[in-house]
Amino acid sequence: MTLAVANQKGGVGKTTTAINLAAALAQSGQRVVLIDLDPQGNASTGIGVEYNARKHGSYTLLMGEADAASLVQKTDIDNLSVISASTELVGAEIELIAEDEREQRLKSALRSLAGSTDYIIIDCPPSLGLLTLNALVAADGVIAPLQCEFFALEGISHLTRTIEKVKKQFNPALRTTGIVLTMYDRRNNLSELVAADARSFFGEAVMETIIPRNIRISEAQSHGTPVMTYDPRSSGATSYTALALELRNRLENTSN
Ligand code: ADP
Ligand code: MG
Repeated sequence: MTLAVANQKGGVGKTTTAINLAAALAQSGQRVVLIDLDPQGNASTGIGVEYNARKHGSYTLLMGEADAASLVQKTDIDNLSVISASTELVGAEIELIAEDEREQRLKSALRSLAGSTDYIIIDCPPSLGLLTLNALVAADGVIAPLQCEFFALEGISHLTRTIEKVKKQFNPALRTTGIVLTMYDRRNNLSELVAADARSFFGEAVMETIIPRNIRISEAQSHGTPVMTYDPRSSGATSYTALALELRNRLENTSN
């Protein structure tokens, strides 16, 4: 199962969700590969990949210069590996334009992981360019984080339109696996309003589990580790663990 964590808005919790969902799935016994497809490389940093260990990564993969298995690096979490963002990924959005089958590169490159991996989680950049398109073409489902803030719904309708286009043109089987409400602040009425709006607008697509705003989540990232290992009792850790469980249930029920 390949899931793209996407939303063209920056700062909505994509990277945080990619890292912690990947880690929570790994902790539940699934074999997971996290792919950092954002040139900013925040997922690589957040999972503890040193800067000088990023020479070969998702750029190498997209350009077909090495196979996926040789680019996978272990993390400190059992069952969780990562393909980091190489520094050259910055130029990939432009370079890909000249490549054959430019939107299919990632999909073809990931095929070789299928036998040894239960979940591939792709952290997308904050745009709907060729990198995100590659992720959406390679994916079975999209996880869309929605920050409980003004204009959140506007951003997500843009994403759903893009998903529809990708389905028509490249990947008919693509699903919106779940919209995840993130950075929910229960002291703030706006959070509640956005959550209620999202549920009335997108219904079942919105995951039951809500990710609260929790400082331990961002602290963990600066320590290069998922929140579950940084502070297993924090609300951030328990909510991402619950999200992983809900996701697995949802995917098992829809595949029947
Ligand atoms: P994106 O990848 O969509 O740009 P990030 O996941 O990098 O967004 O999140 C943006 C910032 O918000 C980061 O500094 C991250 O640590 C912080 N953050 C994300 N989710 C939470 C949360 N639930 N509670 C507190 N801080 C969060
Ligand atoms: Mg990010």
